[in-house]
Amino acid sequence: MTLKILGLGGAKEVGRSSFLLTEDNHSLLLDAGLKLFPKRLNIPPLEPNIPLNERKEFFSSLDSMLVSHAHLDHIGYIPAAYHYGYTGKVYMTKPTADLANYVWEDGLKIQGDRFYNKKDVNLTNRNIVKLDYNNKIKISDKVSATFHDAGHILGSAAIELEWDGQKILYTGDISDQKSLLHTGYHIPTSNDKFSFIISEATNHHTSRHTPREKSSKGLIQAALDTYKRKSKLIIPAFSMGRSQEVLSILMTYLDDLLYSYPIYIAGAINKVNKIYRKFFNSNWINPKIIELVKEQDSSLKTPWDHPGLKEVRGFNTQKRIMKSKKPCIIISTHGMLETGPVHGFLSLGANKKENILAIVGYQASGSIGADILAGVKTIELGYGKHVKKYHIDLEIRKYSFSGHISRENLQKFLTNTQTDQIFTVHGDLNSMTHLRNRLKNNGLIATVLPSMESTST
Ligand SMILES: [Zn+2]
Ligand SMILES: [Zn+2]
Repeated sequence: MTLKILGLGGAKEVGRSSFLLTEDNHSLLLDAGLKLFPKRLNIPPLEPNIPLNERKEFFSSLDSMLVSHAHLDHIGYIPAAYHYGYTGKVYMTKPTADLANYVWEDGLKIQGDRFYNKKDVNLTNRNIVKLDYNNKIKISDKVSATFHDAGHILGSAAIELEWDGQKILYTGDISDQKSLLHTGYHIPTSNDKFSFIISEATNHHTSRHTPREKSSKGLIQAALDTYKRKSKLIIPAFSMGRSQEVLSILMTYLDDLLYSYPIYIAGAINKVNKIYRKFFNSNWINPKIIELVKEQDSSLKTPWDHPGLKEVRGFNTQKRIMKSKKPCIIISTHGMLETGPVHGFLSLGANKKENILAIVGYQASGSIGADILAGVKTIELGYGKHVKKYHIDLEIRKYSFSGHISRENLQKFLTNTQTDQIFTVHGDLNSMTHLRNRLKNNGLIATVLPSMESTST
């Protein structure tokens, strides 16, 4: 039996992750994501690289799809597989199924039916096999899979495959960080050797992570400073993952203060909070925060039930909040300030020195968030005809909350796991070359995944 592997996306880039494993009797796709670009670059989203005239044949002959987690770069293209005639199941964890449905519905609003339509989303939902962690499931006569906690976002998984006697590991996006919500990855060490590991390499060119404790303390300090100044703390964040973590940090540390110092959330954050609430148990969430919430206030079930948390809709409400003399915290999408209600808040508060803008996530080069961090003082906010220039006078602070494993620990993990070969994926070229060189020094064979990616992007 010869097992072949091919990257359809994400093999030499971050975005549109999709890896095809084939053998005589079975073909299996790990993830099918999209790649988005900063608005200003004017590049349409990219799908996995399957030529248009081959898609029907490709997807109608595909046997199974497995999904690591609900980020767009891993699941954004899944309903399109059904659009092109895929008839099999798609395997993912229970929380991933709920989060993915939210991402697909959101995709319909943003991209229309560019990649798939509402019917395809419904068909996808009907074909999801929802899994718990650590339960081995049979995919075919010769293939079985176990989803392990990857510690990256709610429901994220590293996928272990057993394929006709061979063992394979796909890390997905993996984190070693102990946060309030997650306890880092849990992949049991095994005496069996993996034939190969497909490993993410996102952070490999960057130096050591800032400890999460330090970033959390910094963020709390920003909240306390804002309170003293009677000003506004604006935190741009993506709706999934980072928003819930930041809310948990603020809720657990500020607690009673929040009765007079509200947190406003805007964008789709509340929708995702509901999904996090549903899975707020020790199967999916750090037991420590479950205890902490109970101890603090027995009437609260989750950090997102705090009465100090309020959802904001509409520009008029934003105006009222920003004009008020009372201090407040605002958490709003989009995480890189590309779009979303954060534009409204910032247009009303960017000119006030006493306000603070706290950047808590990665800012891709070319995004408005990256410009602000680079010190650009005039930015454009708004949409269509309503785009206007605004001067940035508010204070900018940055706190690092990486969702990916540090380079030291990734090297350790890969060196301690027995394997014949490692394929590096999900990283820029610098990052992946760096990882491969380090692993080679430790006697490990690490290579680029054979891929169909065009080199033009
Ligand atoms: Zn991810
Ligand atoms: Zn990713």
